[in-house]
Amino acid sequence: MVSEDVLDTLHSNANGLSSAEAAGRLEAHGPNRLPEAARRSPLIRILLQFHNILIYVLLGSAVITAILGHLADTLVILAVVLINAAIGFFQEGKAEKAMDAIRRMLALKASVLRDQVRCSVAGEVLVPGDIVLIEAGDKVPADLRLIHVSGLQVQESIITGESVPVEKQAQPVDETAVLGDRVCMAYSGTLVTRGLARGVVVATGLNTEIGRMSGMLSTVEMLTTPLTRQMNVFSRWLTLLILLVAAMLLVFGYFVERLAFADMFMAVVGLSVAAIPEGLPAVVTITLAVGVQAMARRNAIVRRLPAIETLGSVSVICTDKTGTLTCNEMMVASVVTVEHVFALEGAGYAPTGDILLNDISVSLQEHELLEELGRVAVLCNDSALHERGGIWTVEGDPMEGALLSLSGKVGLDIGKVRAGWTRTDVIPFDAEHRFMATLNHDHKGQAMVFVKGAPERLFAMCDHQLTVAGCSEAFDKGYWHQQAEAIAAQGMRVLAFAVKPVVPEHTILEFSDVEYGLTLVSLVGLIDPPRPEAIDAIAGCQGAGIRVKMITGDHKGTATAIGKQIGLQNPDRVLTGAELDGMDDRTLAAVVLDTDIFARTSPEHKLRLVMALQAHGMTVAMTGDGVNDAPALKRADVGIAMGLRGSEAAKEAAELVLADDNFASLAAAVREGRTVYDNIKKVISWTLPTSTGEAMTIVVALLFGMTLPITPIQILWINLITAVTLGMALAFEPTEADSMRRPPRPQSEPLLTGDLAWHTVFVSALFIAGVFSMYANAVDKGYSIELARTIALNTLAVMEIFHLFFIRNFYGTSLTWKAVRGTKAVWATVIIVTAAQFAITYLPPLQALFATVAVPLQDGVNIVCVGIALLVIIEAEKQFRLRWRKG
Ligand code: ADP
Ligand code: MG
Repeated sequence: MVSEDVLDTLHSNANGLSSAEAAGRLEAHGPNRLPEAARRSPLIRILLQFHNILIYVLLGSAVITAILGHLADTLVILAVVLINAAIGFFQEGKAEKAMDAIRRMLALKASVLRDQVRCSVAGEVLVPGDIVLIEAGDKVPADLRLIHVSGLQVQESIITGESVPVEKQAQPVDETAVLGDRVCMAYSGTLVTRGLARGVVVATGLNTEIGRMSGMLSTVEMLTTPLTRQMNVFSRWLTLLILLVAAMLLVFGYFVERLAFADMFMAVVGLSVAAIPEGLPAVVTITLAVGVQAMARRNAIVRRLPAIETLGSVSVICTDKTGTLTCNEMMVASVVTVEHVFALEGAGYAPTGDILLNDISVSLQEHELLEELGRVAVLCNDSALHERGGIWTVEGDPMEGALLSLSGKVGLDIGKVRAGWTRTDVIPFDAEHRFMATLNHDHKGQAMVFVKGAPERLFAMCDHQLTVAGCSEAFDKGYWHQQAEAIAAQGMRVLAFAVKPVVPEHTILEFSDVEYGLTLVSLVGLIDPPRPEAIDAIAGCQGAGIRVKMITGDHKGTATAIGKQIGLQNPDRVLTGAELDGMDDRTLAAVVLDTDIFARTSPEHKLRLVMALQAHGMTVAMTGDGVNDAPALKRADVGIAMGLRGSEAAKEAAELVLADDNFASLAAAVREGRTVYDNIKKVISWTLPTSTGEAMTIVVALLFGMTLPITPIQILWINLITAVTLGMALAFEPTEADSMRRPPRPQSEPLLTGDLAWHTVFVSALFIAGVFSMYANAVDKGYSIELARTIALNTLAVMEIFHLFFIRNFYGTSLTWKAVRGTKAVWATVIIVTAAQFAITYLPPLQALFATVAVPLQDGVNIVCVGIALLVIIEAEKQFRLRWRKG
């Protein structure tokens, strides 16, 4: 069918549907989305909580203790199992929900004609019959029959498996053509790699080709990263090791020391439960989820979880200039013609303001060239200006909006100009060729080509220039070059404008049409002030040992001026794209470290820069927005796409999306990345000594044939109460004060370092010393064995709490007011644990179950003193170690 028939069949027309009609069709057809991939049902998720070695061991022990008739033990063991599973289940559910919410923030947008105007809507509300506009970088939002095509290429691998982009056209194809050959169609979910087109929606949601291919639906991403996988493997091996040791102890105690089997068995179970860090993987996952949420609050949306870890180790950030470091609120401040340099006044995008020549307002009649410039600026332009309540906003590219505002200032009526010259064809702007051209016809049948773009690019195409009188004369390259440099040196973006008359029969615009014979109209300088918050963020990054490099398509002079304003380290050393092309990889690697500004680059230079930096062992974060940035984003350690400006192609390739395009958000994400890694480290550093300490109290007693200072069932209790509370509190730790003053963590740094091993040994030894001495002291005082055990048990709990306060400030010092004040999570858990300890010590039913007795006040005070002493000792050890290492 030809496209007109398709439109008829769908009861639509080339101007699109009305909002009312679209709303009606949305009712009838349902939203344009695919059902979410099947989730694991709650039942399966509950069952999965029990699927782990430790739980099996515990369940086995529950059975054995029940057979042995120790019902109290059985009860406690089952309680441990249930509470563990419940906490895992709820936390996991919360983490998954958080991830879902974040994924929804990345919903697809579509450009559609509604009520005859182009507007941007959520992809979900598209209906059959809608006229959709797509361009390079977009993801096709629904199945489209193409009506008008301009150089469109689409990458359809998700449908056809073919990774080479396919050329598209509007002419109908044979009805029997296979999917891959239907070149008049663009299918939902495929990526536009080049050109632009408009098409009518023929199918949405499940009726699209992608919707019909079941099994191709988006899969749910699990909360796993290399780190969590490493943790899972680690805890599995540790569990096996612990079980092995426990079994050997059982044999040793039973055969060598001839202890009763039932006692031995309970001791070994208690020791295994204490030693196995069962909560660790869950807590690490929660720490990650907390980090993802914290980043989302700071406008950094994580698309792939491993990025959170990598972000913390980033050592160089390569960033765009326009919109990321600058506000992307442009204004034309300067216009250069053959004879004059005008300055423009005005505020925002309002199309009013004076034009000054030597500080004097000019009359527009005397300067017709300005009107000619205005005309090119309006016609070679895809944006629109809207006014609401006196505030002017841009729909489309802010730079083009600024150009429309310029045309207003030179006295043109944008609507009239556009009506007078209809656009016949266009070569859209691309960071690769750095210009945009349109072919327009007026009502008298005359045809003109209008071009705007980077000056160097246009100068090469021009052989004439427009004179003040409106005639054309030979092109004076020297003059224009010098003027362009002068504008750029003030930090302005420079744009050149040119025209070329063509014969009226000309209706298709090709690159060859604009390669020569253009007449330069004038140059324009646009200001785009740096973002104040980006200046602080750059200083922050540099303080954290992270190099910031600016990569821009702009002029060298503009880049240097902006680089100076925002505080880059070497703003005067600029490498241009052309210079980059002349270098081999070795030469590039030699200069890449000391150069912070790369100007007039095109997207493929980004890829080379990433590789050159990686060759130095750096962890590279790279931002990008265009289609062609995708390879560099994929190759970078952390690819970052722009949420507002960015194309879908860039977002697909990126690990992180900045919702507000702001460099400051990127810096905040790096900071959060460091926090997450620190907190995971803290969780581990708290857990390992704790479980080792608990387990060793039993092992030591068994090996030396002593009475156990804490009974196995009491160990189960302590483990139950503390592991899920105190350990979890560390997931919510805020960023440590010096986090952005440390150099980046080397990529190769293992999680389990020598320091951590030493900390584990040292602290668990102190735990054992504390428990055994308090126990021995109580026995010396003539206390009953039950009281002595209750004291030992509480000592252990108190030491764990103080150890938590130590861990909170791993890098700083713990003995400050701020450190003591703690977070809500910390205090909540401390209160829970304290209340639980009071309950087990003083409540009769629990006393009966756990064989505890009330502790006298004086001993209670002593117990707290032991905790304080522990904190002082390990803090002193840390300070000593840090200083010794420094000096
Ligand atoms: P940046 O890296 O700063 O985003 P771009 O690649 O977007 O730079 O632009 C590079 C150059 O291309 C600009 O300096 C400008 O001269 C030109 N340019 C940018 N946008 C357009 C456009 N829409 N039409 C024509 N030329 C443009
Ligand atoms: Mg740009």
